[in-house]
Amino acid sequence: MKINRTKILLIYTGGTIGMVKDYTTDALVPFDFEKLSENIPELGQLDCEIDSISFDTPIDSSNMNIDHWVELASMIEQHYNEYDGFVVLHGSDTMSYTASALSYMLENLQKPVIFTGSQLPIGDLRTDAKENLITSIQIAALRIKGKPAISEVGLYFEYKLYRANRTTKINAEHFEAFASLNYPELVESGVHLKVCHEYCLKQKSKKKFVVHKKLDGNVAILKLFPGITKNVLESVLQIPELKALVLETYGAGNAPTDPWVVNALKKSIERGLHIVNVTQCSGGSVIMGQYETSKQLLDLQIINGKDITTEAAITKLMYLLGNNISSKLFKTVFETSLRGEMQ
Ligand code: ASP
Repeated sequence: MKINRTKILLIYTGGTIGMVKDYTTDALVPFDFEKLSENIPELGQLDCEIDSISFDTPIDSSNMNIDHWVELASMIEQHYNEYDGFVVLHGSDTMSYTASALSYMLENLQKPVIFTGSQLPIGDLRTDAKENLITSIQIAALRIKGKPAISEVGLYFEYKLYRANRTTKINAEHFEAFASLNYPELVESGVHLKVCHEYCLKQKSKKKFVVHKKLDGNVAILKLFPGITKNVLESVLQIPELKALVLETYGAGNAPTDPWVVNALKKSIERGLHIVNVTQCSGGSVIMGQYETSKQLLDLQIINGKDITTEAAITKLMYLLGNNISSKLFKTVFETSLRGEMQ
């Protein structure tokens, strides 16, 4: 009798997980993907079939851009029907941005897409790459009553699977490099894999899987700081072609009340710029109107980013602009959770 084994596709984009030291320059550089499987013979012991494909030129994730996201989404689209799950190997530096972007681009996803990477290269004696990779594959292959346990874009690092668009890279050294401060983990890896079903996205109906490939890069992020000058604020707001801005405010969404700040924001909103209020704090939510210092933003009808991360906010702007959401609906659509990225 032929047993149908779960099929997983590994997609290697680059990052430390597949890097080696170039001894002439002493820097870490990406190496040939074939060597990844050579380095983890344990992959052969997993009870699933694993195929792998790679970006033609694997990159350090600092070089990621919209074209790479489209390439990645297209790879998943092309192989969607052949595989039960996908594991994307990606540098940790911009992993939360890519994974957030992909969560919007892959609409009505019915299969797991798990991002992972590592802090130490796979060949390093103390590497975290093996555990991250092996458990990511196990999670991607996990089925409960014949259905995938996870059917959304996740990010696995150091024993935890998070909803990808809720994550932020919080540490450049620790193995625990990511956090999801506003949403609990979906899976915890210990002796057993503990799936927290109540927190996982559920696909209510079998809607058709759609891959969106149009993203608009005319966006920016501005982090407020005490002492910010008129010049800086106005220069950013007047960037030619700029269509949307993530404004990183203080605490629960507060900003200076100086008339020049309010006027500059007001004028740019009137010109059609979409401005989203996102907190600089790693956890918690924007509550416009709670303090006097956010009342002016509420009055300006600035978009409420609530508890969204900056990574999920900037990529959501790119996605909504790419999909030509009308100016009238833009605020309402942004303030609606599309893939579980906000409350
Ligand atoms: N610079 C690397 C990258 O993001 C770091 C990593 O892989 O974790 O590609």
